[in-house]
Amino acid sequence: MTMIVQKYGGTSIADVDKIKRAARRVCAARRADCDVVVVVSAVGKATDRLIEMAEEVCDAPPRRELDMLLATGEQVSIALMAMALQSDGCEAVSYTGGQIAIRTDTAFSSARIRSIDVQRIRRDCEAGRVVIVAGFQGVTEEGEITTLGRGGSDITAVALAAVLDADACELYTDVAGVFTCDPRIVPNARRLDRISYEEMFEMASTGSGIIHPRAVLFGMKYGVPIHIRHSQQEGEGTYVVQETPAMEDILISGVALKPEIGRVTLSIVPHKPGVVAAVFSAIAEADILVDDIIQNEITRDTATISFTVEHADLADVKPIVESLCAKVGGELTIDVGLAKVSAVGVGMKSHAGVAAKMFQALAEANINIANITTSEIKISVIIDKADGEAAALAIHNAFGLDRSGACRE
Ligand code: ASP
Ligand code: MG
Repeated sequence: MTMIVQKYGGTSIADVDKIKRAARRVCAARRADCDVVVVVSAVGKATDRLIEMAEEVCDAPPRRELDMLLATGEQVSIALMAMALQSDGCEAVSYTGGQIAIRTDTAFSSARIRSIDVQRIRRDCEAGRVVIVAGFQGVTEEGEITTLGRGGSDITAVALAAVLDADACELYTDVAGVFTCDPRIVPNARRLDRISYEEMFEMASTGSGIIHPRAVLFGMKYGVPIHIRHSQQEGEGTYVVQETPAMEDILISGVALKPEIGRVTLSIVPHKPGVVAAVFSAIAEADILVDDIIQNEITRDTATISFTVEHADLADVKPIVESLCAKVGGELTIDVGLAKVSAVGVGMKSHAGVAAKMFQALAEANINIANITTSEIKISVIIDKADGEAAALAIHNAFGLDRSGACRE
């Protein structure tokens, strides 16, 4: 029997009508004789509201208690979804992460899944029931409730699809698929029929916001077919798939914008073994994700190290780097008001001149580049926040992304 995992994000179940509509879609799949496992996020902006409340009662909510609180959001939606399905005559049962043993490590607020017990899910499916699982949450060996990080329901869905060996993992959201750029920034952006896991990972990590990057990695590792679709519209959506040779004919698949990042610069730090390790160990211990890292040798004895982080993480980073500077020496500068624009495409592996073309487009738009970083299939520039959208548009136009196939050679 075919098995599919369907995940509904917060906007797709934002109110009672939308929950009922999502339930009808689930029922239709079940009636087409599929086993269906549904993963839901918290309704609408419920998680944001819980975080606001936590911050009102205390300045820095302890992570364990924050996870305890945030996990309640998804518990509300699984129950409502089960009720909606049952009232449509579709047998369904809801489970929290703990109830189906989604075991994680102990990193509260950014836990990683270690294992999932699928026995209960399989039994329910065999009995003809739709299984509804709370996204974003798990439990540690000791039974502590953890969450996987913001947007983590995607990870739950793809992980479940992997362990259940599902035929597809459908992610329902409020956009019609993956576009060459966010259509709110570039109105003539085009929907992509398919995109490789690698490209999707880079797009997701550099700000596309459509799917959690860790969910893409999970999908890539276990070969889960991921299908991103609009929850309120019919349409083909976008398939995230294994790279095919034809994909390399296209120079750039998409442009992503991270509208607000912060940059931390440590200058005149001693240029000797162990300093960089000390800096990044201290930051890693605080579970803060560092983005682009740039180090330059300034003199034989001193170096400059800079790195970017999410704007929201700056408050946590600051005291750590301040105390580091006091210990190892060096001057600290923190820049805010920066954005990062990235061009992504597997075609870069086999074509020269992509960077030159991108920089030329930015020069013509009179946009100054503060930093450049690259990977095998991505070029990112850090620029002024005010230039973010113009830069995305300029790059999108330069590579003719609005015209299907325009950048084929
Ligand atoms: N409700 C959680 C969040 O808002 C998880 C998710 O939506 O995927 O981050
Ligand atoms: Mg989401």
